[in-house]
Amino acid sequence: MNTTPLIALVTGANKGIGLEICRQLAEAGNLVLLGCRDLARGTAAAEPLQRAGLDVRPLAVDLADPASFPALHDHLAADHGRLDILVNNAAIATDWAYTAATVPVQLVRETFEINVFALIELTQRLLPLLLQSSAGRIVNQSSVLASLTLHSQPGSGLDDWKALAYNASKTALNAFTVHLAHALKHTPVKVNAAHPGSVATDMNPAGTLTVEVGARTAVQLATLAADGPTGGFFHLGQPLPW
Ligand code: NAP
Repeated sequence: MNTTPLIALVTGANKGIGLEICRQLAEAGNLVLLGCRDLARGTAAAEPLQRAGLDVRPLAVDLADPASFPALHDHLAADHGRLDILVNNAAIATDWAYTAATVPVQLVRETFEINVFALIELTQRLLPLLLQSSAGRIVNQSSVLASLTLHSQPGSGLDDWKALAYNASKTALNAFTVHLAHALKHTPVKVNAAHPGSVATDMNPAGTLTVEVGARTAVQLATLAADGPTGGFFHLGQPLPW
């Protein structure tokens, strides 16, 4: 258990991998803000964790409503004065039925709005709070499907996973990770991208890993020591190709 609890915010945490990231961070003794776009769903998700004695508090964070981010910042600033960990976990994936030849461009726009643009806006808005931390950590929940190296390599196993909007949104998220890490290189803040693995959730019913395993990479990167990496892309401690 930590002696001084870290303050962590996990977006999209009312279910799936995000909820398990909350559990694991809270079990390590940290104060975890469980981000949810629907407060009723977040409250219901937090309840069993709270009953188990964990300090998990639901917090409304809707990536479709960036106008709410300034008030969110002010609320966190007033309540805590800093943020130690931001896990950008919330995402949508709605274009599996299409290829790059057929996907409606509106779907690409909607996916980028949530998975990329709102994520960048939220991160920038909360950055002053992360800079108040002695060891700020930003984890961008990416995917192996972001990897252009693997997508362009015949036989890499991604042939059945060519959803352009989702995959390219994660590629853009990886670019944000590299660029933000560079912008923050003279600060204690570390920024890394995580691939959770193929995890059985509502987003990926065919996933083979449990959420317990799927949460581990993000939790590792959220709690990196001062000599840990920044600007990287990892799965369970192993670097992945961009
Ligand atoms: P999930 O079970 O579908 O959970 C997605 C979460 O994002 C939910 O809490 C959802 O809230 C939330 N969300 C969606 N739109 C939102 C918005 N506008 N504002 C705030 N929250 C929003 O998916 P998951 O599998 O746990 O995925 C978590 C992360 O891991 C995602 O970034 C995903 O891309 C990544 N990932 C997953 C896999 C996998 O195999 N599962 C593999 C690689 C990467 P609602 O419940 O309200 O919809």
